[in-house]
Amino acid sequence: MNDRCVVVGAGTMGLGIAYVAAGAGYAVELVEVDRARGEAAVARLGELWDRAVGRGKLTAEQAATNRSRMTLRGALAEVAEGPDVVVEAVPERTDLKRTVLREAEALRPALLGSNTSSISIAELADGLARPDRFLGLHFFNPVWAMALLEVVVGPATAPETTDAAVALAGRLGKDPVVVRDMPGFATSRLGVTLGLEAIRMVADGVASPADVDKAMVLGYRHPVGPLELTDLVGLDVRLDIARTLQAAYGDRFAPPPLLVEMVAAGKLGKKSGQGFYRWENGVKA
Ligand code: NAD
Repeated sequence: MNDRCVVVGAGTMGLGIAYVAAGAGYAVELVEVDRARGEAAVARLGELWDRAVGRGKLTAEQAATNRSRMTLRGALAEVAEGPDVVVEAVPERTDLKRTVLREAEALRPALLGSNTSSISIAELADGLARPDRFLGLHFFNPVWAMALLEVVVGPATAPETTDAAVALAGRLGKDPVVVRDMPGFATSRLGVTLGLEAIRMVADGVASPADVDKAMVLGYRHPVGPLELTDLVGLDVRLDIARTLQAAYGDRFAPPPLLVEMVAAGKLGKKSGQGFYRWENGVKA
């Protein structure tokens, strides 16, 4: 029987994690409470595999195999015990993640990971019976294209769990960094700093979003500017991360009012069609 991987949340990240896990031979159960979102995610996965066939990266047979490895579930209660790995990828809210992690733990997975971008692993582990089996598995967007897996080791994480996470990274074709548990880890703390400052600069009228991005791409050789990246990540996701980091490190991470206003207006970036840029069918207009 295939090894089993459960991914909780079929949003931007859950979809990508499911994609690479199926490609690595796992039987994937994708758990999503919003039925329409879950079905859309499975349809999108099918499109991605078709596209990979069109580009000669997969055979039609491999794509069909990947598709057959994917099962959509409406709740963790529908998942059988004993998966090899569970990756939680629900929104960046401590209470929600804790609830989901406790439910996931009841399935007795060999490895339990959270895709949190910023919340401390120790905080998320609070209430878990086996915090030794739990750590951060921070994937990057889009998961199929980004090589990095940030493995975040909590104070209670067992060394075997870290080893298992590093092995998982290898199996999924990712290159891991192992970091100590501090809010924002090694990546978000720095990346979000840049994104928030870029938003403040737009609010101050320093330059247009396109010019702020162009300055960083041409002047600093960033592959993508901080505002376009914010659109790709999701403004709502970035707002949640900023609030987590503000609570941990103080007002240097206070979300700029422009970010708060845009999220309230439903301008979430690529996924809503409008952020700092306009997006049509997933492409920057
Ligand atoms: P998202 O909002 O796109 O998706 C989250 C999904 O979880 C939604 O579809 C939601 O319906 C579902 N959900 C909510 N409660 C659930 C539950 N109890 N059971 C099952 N599904 C549930 O969010 P995202 O961008 O995929 O982010 C998910 C996590 O990954 C967050 O912690 C975020 O910080 C982190 N992350 C995001 C990015 C990024 O670029 N978006 C990158 C790295 C890490």
